[in-house]
Amino acid sequence: MKIIAATGNQGKIVEIKKIFSPLGFDVVTQKEAGFDIDVEENGKTFEENALIKARAIAQLCDDYVISDDSGLCVDALGGRPGIYSARYAGENTPYSEKIKRLLEELSPFPDKSAHFMTSVAFITPDGREITANGVVYGHIVDKPQGNNGFGYDPIFYSDELKKTFAMATLEEKNSISHRGRALRALYEIIKEEV
Ligand code: IMP
Repeated sequence: MKIIAATGNQGKIVEIKKIFSPLGFDVVTQKEAGFDIDVEENGKTFEENALIKARAIAQLCDDYVISDDSGLCVDALGGRPGIYSARYAGENTPYSEKIKRLLEELSPFPDKSAHFMTSVAFITPDGREITANGVVYGHIVDKPQGNNGFGYDPIFYSDELKKTFAMATLEEKNSISHRGRALRALYEIIKEEV
């Protein structure tokens, strides 16, 4: 069975493969499947955006489709940047600059608590839509620490790992990450159905 991942992000593909290949799925990217489309993520929640991305591919094929949407939610900023994490401080701004801006914005607030959130969406060839969520809690540190990972990893200190995500190995991060959790929760729902 083929499953098309509605993403071009190789890191996400690796995680999706790890969890879905044992179920007998051949995971391919949307580009490998011949769909080179860019969808406007204009939903108001992670779940809506994950569904928007998955539906855009599902309507073009008869395969299973999976997608995810994720972001960093900072409590003192009312949950921002949230669904706008990739666009924070400008879409093409490098992460070093996004991080600098976020630290500046957060500096007046004593509460540094934050979480990463992921929603995943799965659509079957007969049009059933299944979603699942994953979250990981922590706080924002004053200075970037560590060289691994991507995005906001250098400033997200995980309460469970007791280090920033950028200081963790990929295995450590995946074992507790928002995306790993959302994918495993989805797996538990669909393993009986496929
Ligand atoms: P999307 O799910 O590809 O839309 O990603 C949204 C944005 O959230 C990414 O571009 C990152 O800025 C941020 N993000 C999501 N997951 C992570 C993570 O695991 N580490 C660091 N940043 C993340």
